Amino acid sequence: MNMTQQSQTGAPVLEAAGLQKSYGIHEVLKGIDLTLTRGEVVALIGPSGSGKSTFIRCLNVMETPTGGTIRFRGRDVGTSFRDAGDKIGIGTLRRHVGMVFQHFNLFPHKTVLENVIEGPVIVCRKPKKEAIAHAMELLGQVGLAEKHAAYPNHLSGGQKQRVAIARALAMEPEVLLLDEVTSALDPELVGEVLAVIRKLAEDGMTMAIVTHEMAFAADVSSRVLFLDQGVIAETGSPDQVILNPQNPRLQAFVSRFR
Ligand code: ADP
Ligand code: MG
Repeated sequence: MNMTQQSQTGAPVLEAAGLQKSYGIHEVLKGIDLTLTRGEVVALIGPSGSGKSTFIRCLNVMETPTGGTIRFRGRDVGTSFRDAGDKIGIGTLRRHVGMVFQHFNLFPHKTVLENVIEGPVIVCRKPKKEAIAHAMELLGQVGLAEKHAAYPNHLSGGQKQRVAIARALAMEPEVLLLDEVTSALDPELVGEVLAVIRKLAEDGMTMAIVTHEMAFAADVSSRVLFLDQGVIAETGSPDQVILNPQNPRLQAFVSRFR
């Protein structure tokens, strides 16, 4: 743990230590450390191909790391689906660590409401009535209660992404991972999705956010990580990393978004 991380208040929720990922001989992640404490919002920035998606997918073990450790609530995540001994199972981890993707990944033949209740009903065996009540509340939070009976292909990209966020929240995750959730959207639809995420941050949701929206990253996060060629090349406050970058590659990177 470095100085910045030690000074964060709150208990560690999700940690990566020395995380590595290779595809064959291609070393994509070369030993990444990150401690996400409760209520903290961390922004991950970096050039295309630097390993941001791979890293965030390793955090909930959608990708299997080839080295290092993932820890959830202080316990190592094991290799089996179920909890085993002192190791947390991958299934348990995924239930508590939600993910939202660039391309929404909604079920096209299910309505908005059916999309949102799917996880709680199927995975968590929540009674359907309860799941529906909670889903309607979440759809209200993202401003889409009136669209509950619509099918995804009748929604705008911004609306689809807000449904995807509601669907992730329906699992009552302790951590939410967001991977370029506004990158596929028309520019005029980006704001409505960022507003939902900003509200989540204000309400204390623990998040790791991969984004190219520098102003948003600076505004919503307490810490920014610059990932470059599979390592964290710089980390610090938004002020240090985005507004006054020292590393020349980072300077070049952020200047492209000004
Ligand atoms: P970013 O999200 O920062 O753009 P990625 O994590 O998607 O970067 O990719 C990092 C590197 O890993 C890229 O060189 C990419 O080609 C490679 N990569 C990602 N996924 C795979 C995969 N499933 N098989 C092989 N190489 C992959
Ligand atoms: Mg990516």
